[in-house]
Amino acid sequence: MELSTRLCPLCHVPFLQIPVGDGSIEICEKCQGTFFEFDEL
Ligand SMILES: [Zn+2]
Repeated sequence: MELSTRLCPLCHVPFLQIPVGDGSIEICEKCQGTFFEFDEL
């Protein structure tokens, strides 16, 4: 897994970035928050 360059707005720690399909999801370990990010073509 890779660390995202973005920080969780709640915990201020880097998201874990996990590739899924066309994009990736970002998960915060600390608050278990999940954020979706899809690449724009
Ligand atoms: Zn968090």
